[in-house]
Amino acid sequence: MPTPTSLYLVPTPIGNLEDITYRAVKVLQGVDVILAEDTRNTGILLKHLNISKPMQSHHVFNEHQTLAGLVKRMQDGDVMALVSDAGTPAISDPGFLLVRACLQHQLRVECLPGPTAFVPALVNSGLPNDRFVFEGFLPPKKGRQTRLAGLAEEARTMIFYESPHRLLKSLAQLAESFGADRPASVSRELTKLFEETVNGTLEELIAHFAAKVVKGEIVIVVGGRKQGVGGVDN
Ligand code: SAM
Repeated sequence: MPTPTSLYLVPTPIGNLEDITYRAVKVLQGVDVILAEDTRNTGILLKHLNISKPMQSHHVFNEHQTLAGLVKRMQDGDVMALVSDAGTPAISDPGFLLVRACLQHQLRVECLPGPTAFVPALVNSGLPNDRFVFEGFLPPKKGRQTRLAGLAEEARTMIFYESPHRLLKSLAQLAESFGADRPASVSRELTKLFEETVNGTLEELIAHFAAKVVKGEIVIVVGGRKQGVGGVDN
């Protein structure tokens, strides 16, 4: 008999509410408490799903302080679900610390498969996806150039999360670091009404997005450095 699960990580839609899975609904219905990044946002989703459950906020500003208490409750038998505002918890969202604490205390953790922004963005990009590197958000200021410099030789496709107001600046910095002719892709508002994916060189993407006001949520995908014979670019 396997150890019962104490903590479920439950992915939630990144836009289209129909992307919630049957299993996610079943798990949310069955747990004792739902840990939510923002209880108001999750409250709206739960109402839509007709689920009434106690919620507790679990976000970057309190996750360190609440860890021990949550672990103790799970050791006492509570089963919990962790959700973030959108997508898979712990992917550029709170979750890692709680997962690690559970595992350190031999509490079983289960992450359900489900919505996340980087997978559709990667596949839509048409760039090689047999090997890729997820970079999450670049540091907003300090450490940004160092991070980009560290990727100069990266041969795998790279994925970045970005905010709309920083998109152009980031594309310009990526062009500076990797060359303006590097193939790339920007996916915006995935699964939502105004979803778009634009594929082209970094230079073409800059021209495209400079011509309009950029809104919504964004994933940037950049092709890796081409490896020729002897590591020379081709
Ligand atoms: N946990 C989420 C996941 O699994 O993808 C990511 C959360 S992170 C705080 C939010 C970022 O994810 C956004 O700034 C954007 O880069 C990306 N994102 C989330 N939803 C998106 C969408 N519908 N379209 C494009 N990017 C999205």
